[in-house]
Amino acid sequence: SRNDRPFRMAVVGSGPAGFYTAYRVMSRIQQAKVDMFEALPVPFGLVRFGVAPDHPEVKNCQDKFEEVASSPNFTFIGNVAIGNEGGHFQGCTIPLASMMRHYDAVVFAYGASKDKKLGIPNESELRGIYSAREFVGWYNGLPEYANLAPDLTQGEDAVIVGQGNVALDVARMMLENVDVLRKSDITESAVETLSKSRIKRAAFTIKEVRELMKLHGVSFHPIDMTLLPDELSKLPRARRRLMEILVKGSTSKPEHSHKSWSLDFCLSPTEFSGTPDGKVQSTTFERTSLSSPFDPASSVQSLGEKLQIPSSVVFRSIGYKSVALPGFTEAGILFDDKRGIIQNDGFGRILQIARDGVAGNNETTTLSGAYCAGWVKRGPTGVIASTMEDAFSTGDAIAADWATEAPFLNSEKSHGWEGLRTEVDEDKCRVIQWEHWKKIDKAERERGLLAGKEREKFTNTDDMLAASR
Ligand code: FAD
Repeated sequence: SRNDRPFRMAVVGSGPAGFYTAYRVMSRIQQAKVDMFEALPVPFGLVRFGVAPDHPEVKNCQDKFEEVASSPNFTFIGNVAIGNEGGHFQGCTIPLASMMRHYDAVVFAYGASKDKKLGIPNESELRGIYSAREFVGWYNGLPEYANLAPDLTQGEDAVIVGQGNVALDVARMMLENVDVLRKSDITESAVETLSKSRIKRAAFTIKEVRELMKLHGVSFHPIDMTLLPDELSKLPRARRRLMEILVKGSTSKPEHSHKSWSLDFCLSPTEFSGTPDGKVQSTTFERTSLSSPFDPASSVQSLGEKLQIPSSVVFRSIGYKSVALPGFTEAGILFDDKRGIIQNDGFGRILQIARDGVAGNNETTTLSGAYCAGWVKRGPTGVIASTMEDAFSTGDAIAADWATEAPFLNSEKSHGWEGLRTEVDEDKCRVIQWEHWKKIDKAERERGLLAGKEREKFTNTDDMLAASR
């Protein structure tokens, strides 16, 4: 019976979703053994490579992850990508099917490794147009974008297309005093580039704005009042607070500010234009109107009127996107390309085409032993707290299935990493286990000490690997 043997689970990805699912399963199933695969040599996903450096308190969840990793039932297998993802991963890859043979269950928690595009003319051709993912990855030391070298010296106007928290981070990083940033764990080369930035004005659309209103020496262009609802007092509380912040404006007034930002609503980008030598110069927007302002359900109409905004640099911040892993089709895992999520039952149980289903007919059933959590389950929205809740629901589904003797990936005893590692050339792979990560961590903190900050990250995998032994 199952009670005689440990439950062997593989987790793909070491961000919040992976760690919180591992935590939940390990606390619900006695003798659960969890192996966590991470493509990079370092753990924590977007907690390390997404969260803004000037928000260190957000990274406190790492303490919980450390605790999970310290369990003797937990194994970290870093620098190993699951699937045949080549590209920027310099470690080795293990084919999905080989990995799955060694586990009772697998949890896909690999986040969103791509970003959405606007799909408008010159977006890919002109220099100076960056995705927020690239820019954020660069200032946070993601090896993939270590050499991005964004050019912030072409002029004074930044245009940010998008209206999420990420857009806010991007604007703040550009407008914030570099001496404030210097003390954070932002990479040294990013501080260097930002200190030479000529950007003085940022125009974009955003929900959470309070922090930007308080930046020293940065003023806010008054909002277009005609867009606000007539009676603020009748709005739901959260929305009313936001409107009040917008109306009140920034703490720094224009006459005392050398930098500024504005929120431009009801503009839909239609085209980028550039200089003859291929650098972005302006963004053309189409004016739109909402059937009912500030109602998320209202429809958008074009007013047939265009507006050109000077753009020395452009950031596209319209969302991250998950993609299917190579091997999904063969494994029967359904991926929704349009929504960028693994198809699941809402609790993280992955769906496959029903065996007796007819092709083209959407009959699905759950795929035994295959689960997902986090952004790849829900789509790329939500903070760490919502990712935790989501991971807990997946963890509970796994524990419930194990308790009911539901079928899993393998009917026989699985050996997990102990079995799988015999198929892997570990020397070539340079597998990073938790004690190796601790060495990298220590080396980064020591570098930080010299620079008067918490940590100076390594920004390329070779340096990480060198510090790990
Ligand atoms: P991720 O954190 O992306 O983790 C996925 C992991 O899987 C990564 O480590 C990746 O390298 C790995 N991986 C990918 N492919 C493979 C593979 N084939 N094999 C093995 N491993 C693989 N939330 C907050 O609460 N506060 C904030 O201030 C905040 N700021 C944010 C700022 C930005 C710019 C972004 C993008 C997000 C921010 N969030 C913030 C949201 C938060 O980061 C996410 O909710 C959370 O990280 C999602 O967790 P995840 O585990 O699903 O994905």
